[in-house]
Amino acid sequence: NADAALNHAKRAGRDNFQFFTPSMNAQVLARLTKENALRQALSRNEFRLMIQPQVRLEDSQLCGCEVLIRWHHPEWGLVPPDQFIPLAEETGLIQSIGLWVLRESCLEARRWLDRGLPPLMLSVNLSALQFRSGLVDWVEQVLAETGYPARWLEVEVTESVLMEDPEHAVVMLQAMKALGIRVALDDFGTGYSSLAYLKRFPIDKLKIDRAFIDGLPDDGDDIALVRLIIDIARHLNLETIAEGVEKEDQRVFLLEAGCQQLQGFLFAPPLAPEDFLEWRQQHTSRSK
Ligand code: C2E
Ligand code: MG
Ligand code: MG
Ligand code: MG
Repeated sequence: NADAALNHAKRAGRDNFQFFTPSMNAQVLARLTKENALRQALSRNEFRLMIQPQVRLEDSQLCGCEVLIRWHHPEWGLVPPDQFIPLAEETGLIQSIGLWVLRESCLEARRWLDRGLPPLMLSVNLSALQFRSGLVDWVEQVLAETGYPARWLEVEVTESVLMEDPEHAVVMLQAMKALGIRVALDDFGTGYSSLAYLKRFPIDKLKIDRAFIDGLPDDGDDIALVRLIIDIARHLNLETIAEGVEKEDQRVFLLEAGCQQLQGFLFAPPLAPEDFLEWRQQHTSRSK
């Protein structure tokens, strides 16, 4: 880990200035460069939001959307979230970035309502660090500021977020539920997947991870696991959505298996807000 390497190197450097090997030097430097750039990204307005439609399986109607962040660095171009969210979490920057995501998402969705478009569930990803303090207060504040209705907001959390401090996570989620916000369990099946957690946390929806959808409709293990997840959800009265649906035969399988919603390239990739609006218009007129 570059942090540890840096600290170690600093300490060692006092006695031995040759401690940095050229490759380590480059690694540490790359991380520091990225960290500095990330620190400035918000004030330099380098983040953008992308919006991916979620549709009901039974009639292909648009029912929600997930907000996904993008970082456009002036020199490096597009940096995907997998390449900066972990660093944002390590450095604590995710707090301010996450707040920005929530505020911008609610502002955007508020504009849709103002245009007279029917309400749509707005789903926003949350990181573990955002759970630590003040989460509920700042969510409430953003809702008040933007005038976006809580009942059309959903937060996506992963099992690992809940595992970090389960006692605290229950309290936070219950407070969110009390505001009228919905809770979806993201990447379901890839984490610790203790079934007891489904009972313990106030969860509304399971997002079946793309890892299980990939093998459909042929892979026997994926077939069994996806059916099992949908069954569990049905018995616990949870909604289900399949992530990363790319192919028509996957959609057919999921429909027959009783999954309720889908999200994936089969319908649309994450879209810039203006493209999402256009997609929405076309999709609505097509499916009438
Ligand atoms: P996630 O929340 O599980 O998001 C789903 C990912 O699957 C997105 O990747 C999306 O672009 C991708 N995807 C959607 N449909 C398909 C498909 O049909 N095929 C394939 N191959 N991929 C598909 P993305 O946008 O790169 O985001 C990756 C992860 O970064 C997210 O996983 C989420 O964990 C994190 N992330 C993104 N935006 C935010 C954010 O605003 N806050 C936080 N805390 N995390 C975020
Ligand atoms: Mg998500
Ligand atoms: Mg996911
Ligand atoms: Mg993920």
